[in-house]
Amino acid sequence: MKHESFPEQFIPISRTELHDSIDRDREVIHRSLKTFLCLIPKKLWTKYLEYQKHKHYKFLIHINAIALVAYLFFGVADYFVLPDIGLLSLKIRFISVVFFAFVLYLVFKYCKRIEWLDLYLPYCTIVATVIWFALLSQSHNPNALTFQYASVIFIVLANLGVQVRFLPSILPSMIIAFVTCTGVYIVSGHNHNDLFIFSFAYFPIAMFSLYISWNSTYKNRQFFLNAMLDESNRQALDQMAHTDVLTSLHNRRYFEVLAEQLLNRSKVQQFPVFLLLLDIDHFKKINDGYGHDVGDDVLKFIGEIAKQNIRQTDLLARFGGEEFIILLPNTDLKQAEMIADRICYDISQSPFHVDDLTQLKVTSSIGFARYLPHCHNLRSLIKCADLALYVAKQQGRNRVVMHHNPT
Ligand code: GH3
Ligand code: MG
Ligand code: MG
Repeated sequence: MKHESFPEQFIPISRTELHDSIDRDREVIHRSLKTFLCLIPKKLWTKYLEYQKHKHYKFLIHINAIALVAYLFFGVADYFVLPDIGLLSLKIRFISVVFFAFVLYLVFKYCKRIEWLDLYLPYCTIVATVIWFALLSQSHNPNALTFQYASVIFIVLANLGVQVRFLPSILPSMIIAFVTCTGVYIVSGHNHNDLFIFSFAYFPIAMFSLYISWNSTYKNRQFFLNAMLDESNRQALDQMAHTDVLTSLHNRRYFEVLAEQLLNRSKVQQFPVFLLLLDIDHFKKINDGYGHDVGDDVLKFIGEIAKQNIRQTDLLARFGGEEFIILLPNTDLKQAEMIADRICYDISQSPFHVDDLTQLKVTSSIGFARYLPHCHNLRSLIKCADLALYVAKQQGRNRVVMHHNPT
């Protein structure tokens, strides 16, 4: 039987949900780590982008800045190899580097999407390639024909920095290859033969650069998934260390850690705290009469009832054997009494079904005490609740008794 009016802040807590979600994540991660492509599962995609942003945001700024400097330096090479366009090249390169540096600043300041920032260099490289071939086409120097082989640097540069996603980087690579081949064709005076020979030098390097970007993104995916796995393993271990295996409630050790913190806070912030100690009545008889397994199920059943009757901010744990402990922060005497009564009443009114034919009436006794910051620590507070519990047992069980401090 359920109690009618429940204050709004009484929300049942669900720790098994957390367990399940950790387990599910781990399974999904394991599966994708085993696949050849090591693809990021859809549900982890946002986390992956966040992770990559944290890891590669600075790297992408650096590589873009280095690319700009390199582009400017190439102007010096132009100056010596192709003197007829040397000055023009230096001027054009300088103007475009200043322009791109400004765009770089704006893009990295305002664009929050790492997958777009990842493509900034490949797309800028397209423009840089166009500019360079436009310059080369202005030169009448015979060196221009051989110097255009230096254009392989563009495809390498474009793919060197790609870290987050491989597939979207294929399109700019193809555009760069197209621009380069068109440029070579134009600079060589529409000579098919020159383009044919150039392609033998160009395509292995284009493939090589694509492999670099594939490998970087693959390694990053693998690294991310392993990091997620480590994190979820750590969470699972944490859970195991803090959780009672049978009831999935907090165990005693974790309760003590959290309770100490809570009592310290109550000392500073001066909010009232009550502690409840619940012991199942004649539990030994249940074990003796129905077996240890049924006893275990009864413990889970009682833990569940207690959980249904507390707030999210309350602290419930299995204290040991057939005892449960509950700490109620920000709770006055009336509320504490109400909660204890409700749990005790609910337990007594909820028969446990051993099987279809057998029902068991289980009762419990609860002792509770108020935390007095000037004279209590956790241990003595528990002692007070235990004394009250003893009185409840003495008075006939299935009841709630409060400890009265001698003040
Ligand atoms: P009282 O009303 O005075 O509390 O009597 P009681 O029988 O509940 O108390 P007692 O301390 O005599 O017995 C507690 C029993 O709880 C003894 C122990 O075997 C049993 N117990 C402790 N831990 C577990 C457990 O994890 N599973 C099961 N099934 N039984 C447990
Ligand atoms: Mg006991
Ligand atoms: Mg007992």
